[in-house]
Amino acid sequence: MDLDHLPPLRDVLDAHDLAAKKSFGQHFLFDLNITRKIARLADVHAGDHVIEVGPGPGGLTRALLETGAQVTAVEKDPRFLRLLEELSQAAGGALTVHLDDALTADETALAAGRPTAIVSNLPYNVGTPLLIKWLTGPFTPRSLTLMFQKEVAERIVAAPGSDAYGRLAVIAQATAQARLVMEVSPRAFTPPPKVTSAVVHLVPHATRLDQALLDSLQTLTAAAFGQRRKMLRSSLKQLGGDTICEKAGIDPSRRAETLDVEEFLNLARAR
Ligand code: SAM
Repeated sequence: MDLDHLPPLRDVLDAHDLAAKKSFGQHFLFDLNITRKIARLADVHAGDHVIEVGPGPGGLTRALLETGAQVTAVEKDPRFLRLLEELSQAAGGALTVHLDDALTADETALAAGRPTAIVSNLPYNVGTPLLIKWLTGPFTPRSLTLMFQKEVAERIVAAPGSDAYGRLAVIAQATAQARLVMEVSPRAFTPPPKVTSAVVHLVPHATRLDQALLDSLQTLTAAAFGQRRKMLRSSLKQLGGDTICEKAGIDPSRRAETLDVEEFLNLARAR
């Protein structure tokens, strides 16, 4: 068997007697046109290294392997291991599978020095913590191409002043260039989720922010958006309120949602 002659994904799931489990956030993509489009949007090419979180039955994995990339997959549900082993054989060993929780997986060890793109149809229950881990943790990927609930995707790319603008937008845009690149209807998934999904493509900035500055930014945005209707003077009171605003050249009577990412970084530097 090779990649061009694999049985349809639904047949593979039936043959292994597998059904989606809600507790693992399982909503599968069986349409290769969609998974191939995600691989294209991820800008993955022959010889590239990709970490895929949650390969499940392997629809997106197949599309990534078709590009000629080397794929390291991290899957938490052991039921998929046999099926993924078959896929690895069909791909001539280009797929390596690790049974692990992506929240605690060590991407630096998985990448083994190779520039690495992260691509995933994410389990929605852990999508945001995983994104924060990849943007602020010790391992910096070359790019991230990730499926979220559309509402979360909009919060990642939101502009100041909009309802969706908050902590997630500031952290994501302070660390990366983020674009919403594709919407996906619930009908594309088995079983269908309740809401529309969207793919976000993020490219981390060439210069990584200093860890102390990142930590400070996380603390500040938590406080400022925790009370987003209040003036900074009051929402940031415990962190220096008027004093840090003055140091950063920001009017303390402004509210969090009016500050752009650069102004948040100035506040973080002023602490
Ligand atoms: N990639 C497949 C597709 O597109 O059809 C499956 C996507 S499904 C939305 C999410 C996948 O992530 C499932 O295979 C699930 O078992 C796996 N998963 C859930 N939580 C995980 C975690 N913490 N670490 C690694 N994989 C996880």
